Amino acid sequence: MGNWKFPPDGGHMESPNGVYLQTMNMTQVNARLKTNDLIIVPVGSTECHGAAQPLGEDTFLVTRMAEQVALKMGCTVAEPVWYGSHPYNHLGMPGTVVVPEETFLANLRAIIAGLWNMGFRKQVFLNGHGQEEVIPLALHQWAKKYQVPCILISLHTWTVIHDYMKDKAHGGPFDTPFSHADEAEASYSLALFPEFMDMKLAVDNKPEGFLPPGHVDKGGEVYHYPIRGHEHVGLGGTEVLVYPEGVIGHPTLASADKAKAGLEALLDYMCKLIGDIMTRFPAGQLPPANKVTMRDQKEIDDLLKGPLNGGKHIYTISYPP
Ligand SMILES: [Zn+2]
Repeated sequence: MGNWKFPPDGGHMESPNGVYLQTMNMTQVNARLKTNDLIIVPVGSTECHGAAQPLGEDTFLVTRMAEQVALKMGCTVAEPVWYGSHPYNHLGMPGTVVVPEETFLANLRAIIAGLWNMGFRKQVFLNGHGQEEVIPLALHQWAKKYQVPCILISLHTWTVIHDYMKDKAHGGPFDTPFSHADEAEASYSLALFPEFMDMKLAVDNKPEGFLPPGHVDKGGEVYHYPIRGHEHVGLGGTEVLVYPEGVIGHPTLASADKAKAGLEALLDYMCKLIGDIMTRFPAGQLPPANKVTMRDQKEIDDLLKGPLNGGKHIYTISYPP
């Protein structure tokens, strides 16, 4: 569908081409808001991904995806959230920076508030790391506190394209089941940022759980097993003790070709989602206040106008977010 090129001409974080919010001035931002007021916020991690793959792998996955979608759809990308939330079993692994949950959530809530206040009131949090159970909490905490019209979406890449992440025995392209820094993840990275991958250094290991397969998913809800990847403690060992290599599985089997169909499906879906949102709610429009909040219409109108147009800023309701 989308006619995508892999690897893309990407890495736009320091390009003056209007992809990233932080590279734009307010003249450019205000012009962008008039045409497209949706922003993608890539949320990644700084995490050990073994001998061959960069510590920012989860982040680069989602920034490279977001860049391509933004170039096609005319929306904006925020510079990424580089440090993430982690499950118990990641604790103590060198190379991994673990942000405590309440700090992580507070950071996301502050980002939502600041972006909303400047006019980006449609926000898609594109997640590339095993924190898909944490990010939605920030969206709901923020919405409960402020109760203003907005569109906040948490999109976990692997869940969107779960069928493409499966192994061959389950109809997917991979020789081994999806896990962390493995054949599947490294394949996507090779398709998106081969310049950061040094696969001749890759080391494999053997995934092991304490129960037979079929109970615990490995994140991303790829197999729809009853227990999602991070919804348990104790059914597997901790990373620093069991997987000192920093990978779980067989990154040596990775190839960019194995990722291409899934990447096309993912980017196509993101374009459809953003297109549908912007068709239903063109720039400047939001879900109707009388259907989404019981706040006074006058107060809502003031907040929507904003402080530089005769209205109010979002923090008049509450601070900190
Ligand atoms: Zn990763």
